[in-house]
Amino acid sequence: MTLTTFPRKKPFKPRKMSKKGTFVGSIDQGTTSTRFIIYDQSFKAIGSHQTEFTQIFPQAGWIEHNAMEIMETVRVCMAKAIDKATADGHDVDNGLLAIGVTNQRETTVVWSKSTGRPLHNAIVWMDVRTSAICRRLEEQLPGGKQHFQDACGLPISTYFSAMKFLWLLENVDAVKKAVESGDALFGTIDSWLIWNLTGGCHSVDPTQNAVSGLHVTDVSNASRTMLMNIKTLEWDKPTLETLGIPIEILPKIVSNSEIIGTVAKGWPTANVPIAGCLGDQHAAMLGQACRKGEAKSTYGTGAFILLNTGDEVIISKHGLLGTIAYKLGPNAPTNYALEGSIAIAGAAVQWLRDSLGIIKTAPETEDLAKQVDNSGGVYFVPAFNGLFAPWWKDDARGAMVGITRFTNKSHIARAVLESICFQANDVLDSMHKEKGGATNEGFLLRVDGGASANNLLMQIQADLMGCPVVRPADIETTAIGAAYAAGLAVGVWTEDEIFSTEQRQAKETTFRPILKEEQRKKKLESWYKAVTRSFDLADLSL
Ligand code: ADP
Repeated sequence: MTLTTFPRKKPFKPRKMSKKGTFVGSIDQGTTSTRFIIYDQSFKAIGSHQTEFTQIFPQAGWIEHNAMEIMETVRVCMAKAIDKATADGHDVDNGLLAIGVTNQRETTVVWSKSTGRPLHNAIVWMDVRTSAICRRLEEQLPGGKQHFQDACGLPISTYFSAMKFLWLLENVDAVKKAVESGDALFGTIDSWLIWNLTGGCHSVDPTQNAVSGLHVTDVSNASRTMLMNIKTLEWDKPTLETLGIPIEILPKIVSNSEIIGTVAKGWPTANVPIAGCLGDQHAAMLGQACRKGEAKSTYGTGAFILLNTGDEVIISKHGLLGTIAYKLGPNAPTNYALEGSIAIAGAAVQWLRDSLGIIKTAPETEDLAKQVDNSGGVYFVPAFNGLFAPWWKDDARGAMVGITRFTNKSHIARAVLESICFQANDVLDSMHKEKGGATNEGFLLRVDGGASANNLLMQIQADLMGCPVVRPADIETTAIGAAYAAGLAVGVWTEDEIFSTEQRQAKETTFRPILKEEQRKKKLESWYKAVTRSFDLADLSL
């Protein structure tokens, strides 16, 4: 296949080439933690730092982040990663040529232009407080849940940023007033960070009023708001009108790989261009070098399976999302993707650790679950906040079925791991249906993300899908994807280098299915029964 081409008529001239190296930094702002990773020209990580931040649970189903705290984690991670790399002899100060940003998607921040302060905590992508707003819109608008799908590729759901913004507008006075007075800025985490990195001035002095930074987002993050037209890649005026959202509060949409702006004074990476921006799942796609017809599954807090559909926008009839894969430059063609999003994957493992206390660390699930050959008939549906793809049921809640007196914690741990894989399989099934009913035969799934380190989880995934699962040596594909995009824009590497797979393939691990087809089918049938039993359990009127 022909790769996308990105015109680089005027390559970026580095401020100072270092004899000791050329580096690209990546801000990876995830749901539970922030990382800053510095790569050298051969894509090797030469310094990194990661820090967790507070998860705020004001009530059941609500999840918030403190946007100021997130910004501070970026500062700390940058400083510590640079210190580590410098201590190892790398001249990062002179050789850092670009920074890429990748982030948890959909999480919504509204802040004041004049003070630079958020007007409310960020509402996180998993938060379901907007159920009532979604229902209202579904009842009022022709086509119900699918009303906006032709324009943005997405169904009406609590998941997407526009619904979160409407909630803020209807429930938070400060937001309403700032929107009316023209002082409000809306953004996902990428916009919030870039605005601050490019000059939002409490990055220098928290007591001063803000100097405006650049208010931008990229096509992939914008494609998750419900507000961008997926074909024109511009804010969709009819959607904005229907929802009563003023275009003035929205950021400018840019491509995934271009020089967006320069980091302001006061940051550890001052003067370095920000040259790449992608939502985390899109960055992972690029990090995995997924081309047309190839799919990847990222196992983090949630799990996200994306299939690159090339230049074809698919408006799903099987519960999937039409989204952007990547657009590597302002004039480059757009690669689209079909996505199946699963809200709870690694988060179910965290629940075993934090709420049930049957493990102390996430990796322990592997040994615990290995103590039994199967889940002993137990099926776990982690619909903690409803179910996303392909079901889109906000009234579903967690269920564990098939328990007997024989059930022990190993069975439960195994059922939790299996639940992650069953959900991913449901998504892949829908992808095949969308494409006309093919099966997983001949298919291969690329995997990454924190939980993909679990070998048992990956083997179960291969068994339940009945196809090979391929894990790269570096599972931090979101971070490397953002670095690829940024380095590409400033000429550190080329598209051919990014998409060349030889070196990568040498270090991959492949998990091949060993479960008999008959057993696989039986397990999938039981899973299906368990899923349907999780429906309609939440009282959404409360
Ligand atoms: P995010 O980017 O969403 O914050 P990460 O990619 O950092 O997520 O992955 C962290 C998630 O993966 C956590 O939910 C954790 O419980 C889970 N996880 C990490 N390691 C393992 C493991 N070895 N086995 C199972 N789950 C794991």
